[in-house]
Parts: sequence; C-alpha cells; structure tokens
Amino acid sequence: MHHVSTAQESTAQESTAQESATVARLSGVTQRYGNIEALTGLDLNVQQGEVLALLGPNGAGKTTAISLLLGLLRPDEGQATLFGRDPREPEVRCRMGAMLQDSGIAPTLKVEEQIDLFRSYYPSPAPTRRLVEAAELHELMDRRSNELSGGQLQRVMFALAMAGDPELLFLDEPSAGLDLDSRRRLWAAIRELTAGGRTVLLTTHYLEEAAALADRVAVIHRGRLIAEGTPEQLEAQVSGKLVRCKTSIDPDILRPMDEVSRADRRGSSLEILTPHAESVVRRLLEMDPQLSDLEVSGVGLEQAFLALTGDDPGSASESSHNQREHAA
Ligand code: ATP
Repeated sequence: MHHVSTAQESTAQESTAQESATVARLSGVTQRYGNIEALTGLDLNVQQGEVLALLGPNGAGKTTAISLLLGLLRPDEGQATLFGRDPREPEVRCRMGAMLQDSGIAPTLKVEEQIDLFRSYYPSPAPTRRLVEAAELHELMDRRSNELSGGQLQRVMFALAMAGDPELLFLDEPSAGLDLDSRRRLWAAIRELTAGGRTVLLTTHYLEEAAALADRVAVIHRGRLIAEGTPEQLEAQVSGKLVRCKTSIDPDILRPMDEVSRADRRGSSLEILTPHAESVVRRLLEMDPQLSDLEVSGVGLEQAFLALTGDDPGSASESSHNQREHAA
C-alpha cells in the first residue's frame, strides 16, 4: 500500500490538521454476520473534498463498510466515525446524504412530493431547481416512483441523496443496472457535483466508474483492504505486460509457470499477464509455431484489479493466490 508522508517530519500540528481533514473513518473494524466475517480489521479514511471509490467484487464488504459509516450497523470490533463523531448523532446525520441499493422510496408519491419530503428533513436543504437540474428530472416531477424506469429511479435517488445539500455523500453502486448511456449521464451529474469540493464515498464493481469518478481508489477483497492509491498508482502496482495471441494452447498448461501471473481465454484469444513478456512469448512460440495475432501491451486498471483480487471466474484459486503475491 502507498504511504507518502515521512513520519519523522510530521509535526503534531500537521497530524492535527490531517485529523480534521478526515470526514469519515473506519478504524480496525471487524464485522460479522453469524459465522461470516464480512470485514476484518478494516482501516479506511475519507478525506475532505475527495472522491474515494471503494472497489471490490461481489461480497467484498463494500455495503457493510458504508452501513457502518451511516450508523445502520455498529461495529463488532473497532470504530466508525463521521466528522470525528458517532455516525448515529443527529447533528452528524444531517451533514451527509446517501444513495443506497435499498431505495426506501414511497412508490405512490410523485417525484416532486418525494423531493419536498426529503428537503423538509434538513435544516438547509438544496434548492429544488438545483436537484432537478443535476438529476435531469424536469420531465419526471409529476410521475410516481412506481411509474419510473430503473435508470429514472436511480436519478431520483441521486436527487434525494442531495436533498440536504450534504457535505458528505455516500453512493452505494450508483449506476448498478443502468445502461451505458444512463451510466455516463449519472457520472456527469456526479462529476459536476464533486467539482464543487464535496466529499464522496462511492462503491462500485465497475473499474471504469472508479477511474471516471474517483481521485483515490481503495480495493477491498474478502473484507480486507488490499490496495489503495490513485487509479494510476494501482496500475503501476502491477508491473508487467499483457500478452495476447491466437493459439490452441490451453491456459491450464500455462498457469503453473513461474513467469505467468494469470492466463485466460477471452473469446478466440489467449491473454497472459506476466512480468517477463519476452520469455513468455518465446515459450509460446516453442509450444505453438502456428500462433498468430501476437500483441504485447501495458497493464490497464482492469488487469491491475483482476491481478490484485484474483477474482476472475476463469482463474484457478492457486493462480489467484500467486497473483496477490505478485501484486504485493
Ligand atoms: P456486492 O457488491 O455484492 O453488493 P459487497 O461488497 O457490498 O457486495 P457486502 O454486502 O458488504 O458486500 O457483504 C459482505 C459479506 O457479508 C458477504 O459475504 C455477504 O454474503 C455477507 N452479508 C452481508 N449482509 C449480510 C446479512 N444481512 N446477513 C448475513 N450475511 C451478510
């Protein structure tokens, strides 16, 4: 993980300033549901003004982390704080907004009534006009929630999360289930909002979403933080190249090789992630002289994420373990 500051140079004043810039924090949090340990000793800081993406595959613990920060769950071990206080305190709650997977929207209220209702909960709500513009709701104000499409409903939920003009916004998988066009429009709305210096914690499975919106990405896997940094830093953590070619070679034969971090079939191509592209290409050509369409490229965020989590359905668990070692 990245650690930039030099501890010895830090004065007490600097650490106090850093402390006040942290708006949401999980410290050593372990959370269980019966026998399932959803989070294990998780530390997470959200700094004022940043957009932090919590990225991880299904079941990684992202929603659990958000629920703890919202005060919907209390940690079994460790501490969750918002603005340095207990997330359940009313003064703290009115400074944040949340868009969760479970909407809680009344199906029979019109969008306009729903927005008025949410605005009434807060001491200084955002002007309705701003919410309507940000979420593109002009045509939908007279419609009831049960008459909206999935994408329209997501936009209403986004507006409701913004109703209190919050300093801190939680977005739990904001574009889940949206088509590409709706997703891009929602991203544009989120970007416009965050350009104003608001703090956002969002969770996502989509690498594209993390790269499009976030200043910083925290990758969690099986309840633990496994990597943290800017999207560019994460890419750099996985040094190596992606070798792609058309061949009849079975990826199962390649996976046990030391220099192969992962090997998968993608359509008619074979993809290999490796820190030693030259020797891998030499081996491939020895094994299959008919090999064609050979390409060697740098590793993008998607490969970095897969290499870090090893969470590709096509990969064997042993090779996943190797990938994590390689990435560390
Ligand atoms: P997804 O991307 O699929 O929403 P996630 O990263 O948000 O996943 P969580 O919903 O936090 O993950 O779940 C973490 C783990 O805790 C999973 O193994 C999940 O099955 C388990 N879990 C979550 N909520 C409950 C619950 N109410 N009861 C029992 N187990 C739960």
